Amino acid sequence: MDLYSGYINRLIAELSVLPGIGNKTAQRLAFHIINMKKESVEKLAGAMVEARNNVKYCNECFTLTDSDLCPVCANPARNHKQIMVVENTRDMTAYEKTCKYEGVYHVLHGAINPSLGIGPNDIRLAELLKRLQHDAEEVIIATNSSIEGETTAMYISKLIKPSGIRVTRIASGVPVGGELEYIDEVTLTRALDARVEL
Ligand code: ZN
Repeated sequence: MDLYSGYINRLIAELSVLPGIGNKTAQRLAFHIINMKKESVEKLAGAMVEARNNVKYCNECFTLTDSDLCPVCANPARNHKQIMVVENTRDMTAYEKTCKYEGVYHVLHGAINPSLGIGPNDIRLAELLKRLQHDAEEVIIATNSSIEGETTAMYISKLIKPSGIRVTRIASGVPVGGELEYIDEVTLTRALDARVEL
């Protein structure tokens, strides 16, 4: 016997697809949505559709942005010869919040993870190498200090070093297994300042 209406069941099913949302949470959210004001639900749904339709990848660094170039890449005052490599847009935002980094970024959208079948061709690595053909002076690898992040850092370092470009890795102020987006700004700044040559 179906306890809920078909509409609620469908809403629960759609919400369950989201990461970190199990069936119980999906049910809770579904009932919350049903009790929200109609206008608020329309605003929420509209924001989702508009974000999905309009957000794109920056032509330079591949972060998510509303225009062809993100505000960092479009800023001539930034040092475009210093490129910080991060796993995702949230990590880039974490470093931007420190207001201490003056270079630009490259967003990989993932890390090498053989156990999940994610190889070098599944992240934005070819795009990074293409960027380095123009004059880059330093690549700062700021992938997470998880096994995947370290594997990715080593892989990138080996790939770039022969070109003579300086390759550094942010220091271990970032705890092992730590994800950048959850780390405070002081620690992130220290990790950048104390970066080491690879
Ligand atoms: Zn950009």
